[in-house]
Amino acid sequence: MSQMLIPNTVTEACQMLSSGNRVACAGATNLYVDREKGKYLDRDIVSLHRLKELSGIREEKDGWHIGSLTTFDLIEDVFRGQGSMDALAEAASLVGGPQIRNRGTIGGNILSASPAADTVPVLMALDAVLVLVSETGQRMVSINGFMKGPGRTAIHQGEILTEIVIPFKTGAARFRKVGKRNALAISIINVAVYMEKEAGRITALTIAIGSAGPTALRAFHTEELLRTWKRPDSEEKWQSLHEEIAIALSEDISPIDDIRATGSYRKTVADNLVLQLVRELWEACEK
Ligand SMILES: Cc1cc2nc3c(=O)[nH]c(=O)nc-3n(C[C@H](O)[C@H](O)[C@H](O)COP(=O)(O)OP(=O)(O)OC[C@H]3O[C@@H](n4cnc5c(N)ncnc54)[C@H](O)[C@@H]3O)c2cc1C
Repeated sequence: MSQMLIPNTVTEACQMLSSGNRVACAGATNLYVDREKGKYLDRDIVSLHRLKELSGIREEKDGWHIGSLTTFDLIEDVFRGQGSMDALAEAASLVGGPQIRNRGTIGGNILSASPAADTVPVLMALDAVLVLVSETGQRMVSINGFMKGPGRTAIHQGEILTEIVIPFKTGAARFRKVGKRNALAISIINVAVYMEKEAGRITALTIAIGSAGPTALRAFHTEELLRTWKRPDSEEKWQSLHEEIAIALSEDISPIDDIRATGSYRKTVADNLVLQLVRELWEACEK
């Protein structure tokens, strides 16, 4: 029978996780469901809830530091209207229902490694860096490359995610999600776009898409395509751009059929959302 272990410090948590068959637990919104499905039943649970230093958001010289135990509610409260961080507030506001947003954490969202996790594309588009701590020290890794497959990340045994660092950005970002309904829906496709531009040309652009492959991913071909474009000045040119985005995205994503949607529907939605967000950002930046 599995036990619940409750560390009082990060060091103690790492020690507990480095030995035995154990799993970390933050808000338990995913872990509980996993256990209902029979996963982790043989593992002791290391609950991180006493580690108050892992909750909350700070502004430091190198950017925003978000504790891994920070809830979606707090993320929405702090980042709403805060430049490019508003995209993270938007993603947080669209996770589950009020109970999940009150309890679920950003760290749990990343470590669950669902291809549909809503905050992950935004973190990818904003070049977030993850701080991972173990008994032997600390390492910082980019979120781009950290997700390895459904339910799999590059975290090592005995490590915990302590915080997420997002560098300050001068551009703007947007997040959009399409699910089966407007609320309480897992994403069929979610997209985050970050853009900086000057004199009608894009100077920096990142696009990240969720639910379109085994992990959320960057759309590098589409980013490359858009960097060669000047802002379209007619509906015909926007239409041509739409067609080119559809071609470039075919190189970037390969969504599958599942109970929520077909792969071809997902691809069409992704084409439309990327165009929509890029257009909104391009036009917003023009003003
Ligand atoms: C009804 C319902 C609706 C949902 N809707 C959405 C949705 O719309 N969008 C969405 O993205 N998700 C959704 N989820 C999934 C889930 O709520 C989120 O992924 C949430 O962020 C998980 O966070 P948690 O703190 O509860 O993680 P937990 O369940 O506690 O942990 C999840 C995993 O992360 C690991 N982990 C957690 N924190 C750490 C850490 N600091 N260091 C190392 N490992 C850690 C745990 O070991 C576990 O493997 C939904 C879940 C439910 C039950």
